[in-house]
Amino acid sequence: MPDIADRLKKVSVSASVAMTQKARDLAAAGVNVIALSTGEPDFPTPRHATEAAYAAALGGDTRYPPTDGTPALRAAIARKFQRDNHLDYDVSQILTAGGAKQIIFNAMLATINPGDEVVIPTPSWISYADIVKFAGGIPVPVACPEENNYKPYPQDIEAAITPKTKWLLLNYPGNPTGSVATRPELQAIGEVMLRHPGVWILTDDIYEHLIYDDVTFYTLAEVEPRLLDRVLTVNGVSKAYSMTGWRLGFCGGPKDLIKAMSNVNTQNSGGVTTLTQAAAVAVLNGPQGLLKERAEIYRQRRDYVLERLTSVYELRCHRPQGAFYLFVNIEGCIGKTTAGGRHIDNDADFVMALIEEKHVVTVQGAAYGMSPYFRISYATSMEILQDGCDRIAEFCAGLK
Ligand code: PMP
Repeated sequence: MPDIADRLKKVSVSASVAMTQKARDLAAAGVNVIALSTGEPDFPTPRHATEAAYAAALGGDTRYPPTDGTPALRAAIARKFQRDNHLDYDVSQILTAGGAKQIIFNAMLATINPGDEVVIPTPSWISYADIVKFAGGIPVPVACPEENNYKPYPQDIEAAITPKTKWLLLNYPGNPTGSVATRPELQAIGEVMLRHPGVWILTDDIYEHLIYDDVTFYTLAEVEPRLLDRVLTVNGVSKAYSMTGWRLGFCGGPKDLIKAMSNVNTQNSGGVTTLTQAAAVAVLNGPQGLLKERAEIYRQRRDYVLERLTSVYELRCHRPQGAFYLFVNIEGCIGKTTAGGRHIDNDADFVMALIEEKHVVTVQGAAYGMSPYFRISYATSMEILQDGCDRIAEFCAGLK
C-alpha cells in the first residue's frame, strides 16, 4: 500500500474529538450518556446571522470570495478590534480563514522552518502542539502550575526561549482551564518578550467574551503596543456567537506576516464560504447585548458545577473566570479502585472508568499536557449538568 506522509505520523487525533465521538457512539447504542466533553456553545446561532446568510444565498452571493475576506467582513473585523480591544488595524492587516484553528495553522505554516521551537504555556488546547508539529516545528511546553491558576510565570517563559524560538502562544481565557490573564500579568509577559525581538507572539482570544465575575478582558497587543509588530491577535465567531459550524476565524497583525499567511490561504483554501462571511458581518456589526446575556448563563452554570464538584472529597478545582471549562484535580482518586473494580492509575483510567460505569464523558488532563486532571465542559443545560454532577459524585463515592 502507498505510504502516508511522515509529517502525519507525529500528529495525533484530538482527544476531545475522540471522546465526543465515544459519547455519540454510546448514545447511538441507546445508552443514556452525559457528554461533558465538547468545547462548543449549546446556544443557537443568532437569528440575524442566519437571515443574513439566507439573504446572501438568495441574492446570488455564491461565487468565489476574495481569499482574505470580503471588504465588508474585513471592515467589520477592524471595527470589532477597535470596539473591543482598542486596536487600530488597517483592513490590510486583517485576514480571515476557516476558523481560528485554520488561522493558527496558516500562521505556523507561514513562519516555521524545520526545528523551530514554539513555546506553549501548558496545560493548553490540544491542537497547538499538533499544529506546530505539522508545520515542522517543535512544541516547547512551559508548565503553568495549579497554584498560579494555571498561568505561566514570566521567568519560566523566558527560560524556555532559545535562539530557535519562533513563537510564543498565549490563550486567555484558556482552554482547558478557563484562566484569564490580568493586565499586570500580560505586562510582565510583554516585558519578557521585548527582550526577545526574534519571537512572534500569537494571542488566541477565541473565548474573549466568555468572561465572568466583572473581570476585564485584555489582549497583549493593547497592553503592550511596543509589541504590535510581532503580535498576531486571533479571534473568531465560533464561541462568542455560537457559530462553531460556520467556520470563521480572523486575525489582526503586522502586514508582512498577514501577507505571508494570505499566500498560504490562497493555496490551502479559496477563502471562507460567502454565506458565512455574510453571517459574520451581521453578528459583528449587530447588537452585542447577547454576549453579556449568554455569559451570565455560563456563569450560573460554572457556579453550580464548581460548587458540586468541590464538595466531592476526592476532587479539587480552582475558580475559572472564563471560557466554559473546569479543570479538575483528581490526585485524590489515584491508586483507588472503582465500584466496578477498575483500578485508577492515571487520569486516562479515571475518564475511561467514568464513561464505562456512569456514562459521563469528559477528557483526561494528559490530553492537554497536565496530569492528573480531567476537563469538564459546562456548555450544556443545567439539567444535564445536574445529572452529570450526580453521577460524578456517585462515582467518586464508590472509590475504595
Ligand atoms: N482556540 C481554542 C483555545 C479553542 O478551544 C478552539 C476550539 N476548541 C479553537 C481555537 C478553534 O476555534 P474555531 O472554531 O474558530 O476554529
